[in-house]
Amino acid sequence: MKLVVQVKLLPTLEHASALEATLRACNRAATHASQVAFAEGLKDRNGLQNEVYAALKATFGLSAQPVVRVVKKVVDAYATLKANLRAGNLGPATSKRYRKRTRSATRRLARRTKKERRHAAQVNHEISKEIVSVAQRTGRGIAVEELGGIRERVRLRRDQRGTLSSWPFHQLGAHLAYKAKRAGVPFLEVDPAYASQRCPRCGHTERANRPDRDHFRCRRCGLAGPADVVAGVNVRDRARSAWVFVTAPAPSR
Ligand SMILES: [Zn+2]
Repeated sequence: MKLVVQVKLLPTLEHASALEATLRACNRAATHASQVAFAEGLKDRNGLQNEVYAALKATFGLSAQPVVRVVKKVVDAYATLKANLRAGNLGPATSKRYRKRTRSATRRLARRTKKERRHAAQVNHEISKEIVSVAQRTGRGIAVEELGGIRERVRLRRDQRGTLSSWPFHQLGAHLAYKAKRAGVPFLEVDPAYASQRCPRCGHTERANRPDRDHFRCRRCGLAGPADVVAGVNVRDRARSAWVFVTAPAPSR
């Protein structure tokens, strides 16, 4: 069993000044040990103790027991600091203000995200309405890449990822599918594999056909154009061949 007992020392004046001197020496020793720990990257008890033991005893006039306590204090302080940094906690002095600031920033962000979502939903609604109405008017079908492909090709700036990643594309696909079905317009999702690397004229497929994000140039026949347009042509071609199977009469037995 472990008992913790709190005692109050009632030192004589002479003892008090001796104690105070020891505490001051311990604090100076801790500062020194902390500097060594930081400079040498020694944040473990054994490593730091080996490094500073002799110096703390000699320089600060400490006996073995206080030296060991000083080292432990320093190591613990670094461990706490590390844990706080990992948790994003800036310590008791600033944490309240920090939490408050974080909360209001989070709320601002949530509001903005909500607004952006509403905006994206509105844009998706208008785009899909227009696409379906053009398809209906001109007697055509709609083909889209299965969603992974679009996300893969449309590279967003780092700070746009999170907010804009899969969600609007997924929603646009859902809007299109729903509105196309309602209007009786054929709607197909096709496998997007290599859609951005394949030459729609000669069929040559190679990563080097697409030297950068925006451009396509066939290494075999020289066909060149905007990467998205070329990918779109491939999607259309795939949907056309797929459509033959979709609309083919069921084979009679
Ligand atoms: Zn080609």
